[in-house]
Amino acid sequence: ERIISSESIGDEGSMELSLRPSRLAQYIGQEKVKNNLQIFIEAARMRQEALDHVLLYGPPGLGKTTLAMVVANEMGAKLHTTSGPAIEKQGDLAAILTALEPGDVLFIDEIHRLSRVIEEILYPAMEDFALDIIIGQGPEARSIRMELPPFTLIGATTRAGHMTAPLRDRFGVINHLEYYTISELEAIIERTAAILETPLEGNASHEMARRSRGTPRIANRLVKRVRDVAQVKSDGTISVPIAKMALELLLVDDKGLDQIDEKILSAIIDMFNGGPVGLDTLAASIGEERLTIEDMYEPYLLQHGFLQRTPRGRVATPKAYQHLGRPLA
Ligand code: ADP
Repeated sequence: ERIISSESIGDEGSMELSLRPSRLAQYIGQEKVKNNLQIFIEAARMRQEALDHVLLYGPPGLGKTTLAMVVANEMGAKLHTTSGPAIEKQGDLAAILTALEPGDVLFIDEIHRLSRVIEEILYPAMEDFALDIIIGQGPEARSIRMELPPFTLIGATTRAGHMTAPLRDRFGVINHLEYYTISELEAIIERTAAILETPLEGNASHEMARRSRGTPRIANRLVKRVRDVAQVKSDGTISVPIAKMALELLLVDDKGLDQIDEKILSAIIDMFNGGPVGLDTLAASIGEERLTIEDMYEPYLLQHGFLQRTPRGRVATPKAYQHLGRPLA
């Protein structure tokens, strides 16, 4: 189990709920996105209309699902949640759409994974609040149009580039979520520790924040694991030495990189002379999926200057050599 994987893992379910902020004011960071949404929400409420459809994109664990819940709350609307891969048949989507009440929010996670036929049902639903159903077969078949109540679709995706243009164009509001700064992560960690009734001492939140890979989901997971160590090895308080010891046990380094990040970088350096190396070759050489590298690892490594993307492939930067203690070629 990767402690700093930004994918959510099974045992987090019920805990996640209590850790999720429920109002915009409690949602830490993403100031641009929040300001944006605040205005649209206020305007929609003044006009007593459903909010325009919202697309949220960015790496996993940055708070897209949470933000969808917050928006529904702020609108005083009911939230329905589903995901791209869960909607297999046209009837699945029709059932979801016909259950909506006026003003409801429908959240579709991983919306880039919807199939083309399903997408086509979504277009008139988003644009005209209408559902076209085909009844009968062969020459007898005809299409009837059902009216839907006005609703808000919130779509989340880790890869806006993989969405079809017609789907993307039907969102009135498109927001990109960014990695969080250390001080924002500190605030999230302090909030989580308070909810878990775990005292934090000194700069302990800073030690955890720096290792959270810019990601609240990882920050929350570190708090829980470090709290376990604090309970067993001391009186339950997370002090700086306890935090450092726990983080060492968890094998997270002080740049927030874990074994897989290091595997990626050392493969480029040791096997491909620092690059450039194509993503498929790189993925095969370390036994990871191309998509996993692209979605989960690379964005952080790129943003923090460990990796560069060139037309001929990925290149390890001098910072990567330095971090791994390799002499520059
Ligand atoms: P995503 O849908 O982007 O994968 P989630 O919304 O599931 O991410 O968020 C992952 C975890 O991080 C949740 O437990 C949530 O409580 C926490 N979290 C995310 N964003 C924030 C934030 N801005 N402030 C506080 N906690 C957050």
